[in-house]
Amino acid sequence: MNKGFFKSFFKDKKLRLSHPRFLIYQELSNTNVPLSPQELYQSLLKKQKKIGLTSIYRSLDLFESLGMVFKIINGSSVKYKLCESEDHHHHIICKACGDVVELNFCDISNWSKKVTESTGYQVIDHQLNFYGLCKACKSLQSPQSGVR
Ligand SMILES: [Zn+2]
Ligand SMILES: [Zn+2]
Ligand SMILES: [Zn+2]
Repeated sequence: MNKGFFKSFFKDKKLRLSHPRFLIYQELSNTNVPLSPQELYQSLLKKQKKIGLTSIYRSLDLFESLGMVFKIINGSSVKYKLCESEDHHHHIICKACGDVVELNFCDISNWSKKVTESTGYQVIDHQLNFYGLCKACKSLQSPQSGVR
């Protein structure tokens, strides 16, 4: 999600793009690794930008509700990653290292139909995460791939 899109997204939703919100977006867009609110706080502080943790939490909550960031919960740790794709998508998370990859396809229309058939609900939205082992972690964990 680039800067232009981020700005127009806020404008379209008639939300105020405050300075802290923009700085948090910038920090997230500078890195490919998921960041915790504390890490964001520290790295902003290093750049002489003092933004309160509460304000960071609130902004991240907002970004998440808008589908701009993906929230990764692993035990007691919570991290956020800026979404590259601006459209509806899903994620796969590595159980070992926490790496996240976006899946730019979604093919659950049959599933939605089944949900409607069995519950009578009209499906409006859905969330679905995949979990697994990334290539690097998989090769570390499988003894067969070692030299022998
Ligand atoms: Zn995403
Ligand atoms: Zn991994
Ligand atoms: Zn989907």
